[in-house]
Amino acid sequence: MQRMTTTSSTMRGGTTKSISYEIPIFVPLPFLFYVTIKGMDKIIKTISENGAFRAYVLDSTETVRTAQEKHHTQASSTVALGRTLIASQILAANEKGDTKITVKVLGTSSLGAIITVADTKGTVKGYVQNPGVDIKKTATGEVLVGPFVGNGEFLVITDYGTGNPYHSMTPLVSGEIGEDLAFYLTESQQTPSAVGLNVLLDANDKVKVAGGFLLQVLPGAKEEEIARFEKRIQEMPAISTLLESENHIEALLSAIYGNEPYKRLSEEELRFQCDCSKDRFLNALSSLPKSDLEEMRDEDHGAEITCQFCQSTYHFDEKDLEELIRDKS
Ligand SMILES: [Zn+2]
Repeated sequence: MQRMTTTSSTMRGGTTKSISYEIPIFVPLPFLFYVTIKGMDKIIKTISENGAFRAYVLDSTETVRTAQEKHHTQASSTVALGRTLIASQILAANEKGDTKITVKVLGTSSLGAIITVADTKGTVKGYVQNPGVDIKKTATGEVLVGPFVGNGEFLVITDYGTGNPYHSMTPLVSGEIGEDLAFYLTESQQTPSAVGLNVLLDANDKVKVAGGFLLQVLPGAKEEEIARFEKRIQEMPAISTLLESENHIEALLSAIYGNEPYKRLSEEELRFQCDCSKDRFLNALSSLPKSDLEEMRDEDHGAEITCQFCQSTYHFDEKDLEELIRDKS
């Protein structure tokens, strides 16, 4: 049952095995119409007809594009942050109720930490400590990520809203994020999983397309079925090739299921959205010692706070600070 993990290494982010490979894609017309609506990301949840395999496919293009615009990230930083945003969208999709998933890629190299938070309503926010890592492999134009993440941990914090968040951590396998997520799912959640996710950039390093998939083996799957899915995953085109298909959601589903029957369970919207507000930061300020607040009032004549997750800036004037100081007396 552990075999599915090893197959995920064939989907190492960005590696292109066969550019000329073509797979047949069947696209129902109403669906085609639907995906032409611009600016809407989505996740489609599916299950094999016999209930033994679950697959999610994601279009996260606008999510990663928004992240790039907000954080002004350079090539490697864009791809690393984008892949982590997709990873947390996948993890949040596996949760029910009002759950929040925080993913922290705590690497030791130049990108620094990458932190993302996703919820079960389809929103995600995130940032990379160093947005300025701008490296590409010259020969193929492929964006490098793993070496700039480095060694470290893949930490997942699951908050069910009970005030008792659950922490779970696995070592980074490659720093390519997709493999690290597959390893986390198999080790920590004991569910054999194959993951493919990537972000492709255009000639100007702007986000062209972003997305991915998760395939999981559910209890009751027969050995020969697992072998069949495994073979298909191993032989599927590189994730970047699939993402470049005209309709990558359908291309991913075809690559995962082949001719096996499956059901679409749901289709949900995804988006980059921060939940910060002036009130929230006012709350944070109110936890500071009175002397600090007085210093801000007297020396800086106010305070300015920028949200790490979305770069929105909030200004607090002397009157705001005065009120906080009065509440502390
Ligand atoms: Zn924010």
